[in-house]
Amino acid sequence: MRIVFLGPPGAGKGTQSLRLAEHLGVVHLSTGDVLRQSRAAGHKIGLEAAKYLDQGQLVPDELVVEIVASRLADDDCTRGYLFDGFPRTLPQAEALDKLLDARDAPLEAALEFMVPHEELLKRLSQRGRTDDAEETVRERLRVYAELTRPLANYYDDRGILRGIDAVGTLDEVFARIMLAVSDLS
Ligand code: AMP
Repeated sequence: MRIVFLGPPGAGKGTQSLRLAEHLGVVHLSTGDVLRQSRAAGHKIGLEAAKYLDQGQLVPDELVVEIVASRLADDDCTRGYLFDGFPRTLPQAEALDKLLDARDAPLEAALEFMVPHEELLKRLSQRGRTDDAEETVRERLRVYAELTRPLANYYDDRGILRGIDAVGTLDEVFARIMLAVSDLS
């Protein structure tokens, strides 16, 4: 299956997407993870991206699209994939569509994680990642609302969007995800 996870930072996409990808036997692709790893390894892309990550800004579209395009070319992606934190802008969504159209393998599901604002702030203040400082968190939430949230409409128009109530235990949220996925598959 081919799935996109949408949702603000702190919504729990990372944990749930790993679990779902394992359950479905598909590739888990988090552009945030790739960027952090690339930075830690001292690679050019990661070092270039670092200044954006530290300020809670999105890295340029070309850069993440390049990461995704090269990963999609790998053999293991033929069974499907789950994108976590990508796409985050309309140009990224359009670029992804092009890549997938070329493979005749369109997206089948877009799941939007929904968490009240106060709950997100609480979760992010407890997480302790380097880009979880209060200022940066506020900026990442603002960027999400402005640039990423509109993607929900983009996928809703196509009939593949499902909202996920992401407040609850890990198992409760996972059960809601499974319900949405089976509805769309
Ligand atoms: P995440 O782990 O998904 O929260 O991503 C952490 C940071 O990596 C973001 O705040 C951005 O700076 C960068 N990033 C990850 N994915 C993308 C993307 N699809 N487009 C632009 N920037 C991204």
